[in-house]
Amino acid sequence: MTQHLEELIEAARELVSSGLVTGAGGNVSAREGDSMWISPSGFSFADAQAQHYPRISISSGEILEGEHRPSSEVLMHLQLYRVRPEVRAIVHAHPKMTVALTAAGHDLRPMYADYYVYLGANVPHVPYTTVTTPELAAAVQAGFEAPDCQGMVLRNHGTICVGESVKEALFRTLAMEEQAFIQYHALTVGTPQFLSDAQCADLDALDSEDYRRRLLAEMKTSGGVESQS
Ligand SMILES: [Zn+2]
Repeated sequence: MTQHLEELIEAARELVSSGLVTGAGGNVSAREGDSMWISPSGFSFADAQAQHYPRISISSGEILEGEHRPSSEVLMHLQLYRVRPEVRAIVHAHPKMTVALTAAGHDLRPMYADYYVYLGANVPHVPYTTVTTPELAAAVQAGFEAPDCQGMVLRNHGTICVGESVKEALFRTLAMEEQAFIQYHALTVGTPQFLSDAQCADLDALDSEDYRRRLLAEMKTSGGVESQS
């Protein structure tokens, strides 16, 4: 098992333990040269073992290794890697708070530093599109063609986050759901105060945040360095 695949399986299991997917929902992938490891179709992340993860050519889409079918969202992953050469990992999850809040018409907007630092200002919220279709893959590709897009909300469906490491894509997914949780609760007790453009620009200028971003991009899942505020 390669390190990429090992990290991917660990992240997939963290999605389950964090409650961001249930059953066989969600899918994850990691780039390995001109190929990607992707979670298999029909398996829960808790059950899927290394031998179940197929390896697929990013340029041709053909299966290079493995006997199991890739996730039904394989096209979404392939097209995203093709337009973003620096992306090393993709995490697609179904986080409950994010789905609830955005299906009710709200957009996620930064209310605390971590969300902005991990996701930035460009988080497209795309309308519901039938899952597994070429139309969904095209909508995902269109949003991620912008080099500053690190995460996307798929309304009535879930989230998709990218990273230069598996851990970065995972942390972005966790930050999105945390933002949705905070925003939801702020809405229920009062009027949410969002970070202003000036406050976000101040975060962009922080050396410590620049350091943290670089660390996260370089970090391996097994590296053991956790995010600190
Ligand atoms: Zn999904």
